Order: sequence, then C-alpha cells, then structure tokens
Amino acid sequence: MRRAYNSVLKLPQLGKCQQCDAPAIPHRVCPACGFYKGRQVLTVTAGA
Ligand SMILES: [Zn+2]
Repeated sequence: MRRAYNSVLKLPQLGKCQQCDAPAIPHRVCPACGFYKGRQVLTVTAGA
C-alpha cells in the first residue's frame, strides 16, 4: 500500500537531440525532428 511510485514519477532523463538540438530522451526518437541515430525514423509533420 505504501509503496510509492517515486521511481515512476521521476522525470525521464533529458538529453539533447543530435540532429536538432532539442531536448529529447536519449536512445529514443526525437519528438521534434523524428531522428534517431542519425536517420529519420519518424515523419514529423511540420506546419509549413
Ligand atoms: Zn531532433
């Protein structure tokens, strides 16, 4: 009951995207540009 979910509530470590320099979670696809490990894995629809 008293086991708190402190570890879960912790904010994820933020790194920097190598591609766009935006704050992103390391070893995850950057939500800003969709790049991971130097290649685009997500298609980010940027508002033109
Ligand atoms: Zn990025």
